Amino acid sequence: MKIAIMGAMPEEVAPILEKLGTYKTTKYANNEYYEATYNGVEVVVAYSKIGKVFSTLTASTMIQYFGCDRVLFSGVAGGINPSLKVGDLIVATKLSQHDLDITAFGHPFGFVPEGAVYVDADEEMIAMSKEVASDMGKTVQEGIIATGDQFVANEERKNWIGETFSADALEMEGASVAVVCDALDIPFFILRAISDVADMDASFSFDEFLETSAIISAEFIMKMLDKVIAK
Ligand code: SAH
Repeated sequence: MKIAIMGAMPEEVAPILEKLGTYKTTKYANNEYYEATYNGVEVVVAYSKIGKVFSTLTASTMIQYFGCDRVLFSGVAGGINPSLKVGDLIVATKLSQHDLDITAFGHPFGFVPEGAVYVDADEEMIAMSKEVASDMGKTVQEGIIATGDQFVANEERKNWIGETFSADALEMEGASVAVVCDALDIPFFILRAISDVADMDASFSFDEFLETSAIISAEFIMKMLDKVIAK
């Protein structure tokens, strides 16, 4: 077993690296990868940089170059479902690309030929996350995450994404990591803590809560890591 732990931004992986203590840094494909041993298991940590392209590159690299056989993603997101408040956690059941649009040819939003509107996350790890949540005495929602190369700070756009994809939260990397893992047959788990609610105040809320929400997500991911290793 070799486990990849990804974030998009430095703030998302810093709390994870802190827990790992010592690690080896390898530069590859314009990025840094941090390799460590945690409870006897090899882990590789990296932040991809923001967006679908960079996260695709990082997920592929972790699997194909570093040989990881599972991917855990920890980060922050904008909430769509009104039940998600800043600091709340959401586990992705499935993910979709909200900015993928060839509807001019009669296809649904999020779809291209030979692709799929949604990619399902690994059911076993979702089940494990329920155990982790109950061990921690935390409530964690499950839901659909929509991904696109846009920071959404607009009620209308947010509502459209919510309605079109039945999405509960949105961010900029989850669905691309999902596509990579699905294609390479690697189980993946995407966790996000809410930093904002994708409305006109989103950028201010994001700046205020990025660090605290990233820590909330990272703490949960470390417990997930324990659970995955123990199974
Ligand atoms: N402040 C950063 C940019 C952050 S982009 C800078 O200036 O460099 C937002 C990041 O957080 C992305 O990685 C995305 O996955 C997540 N995210 C949080 N809230 C979001 C929102 N409302 N819309 C899109 N992505 C969001």
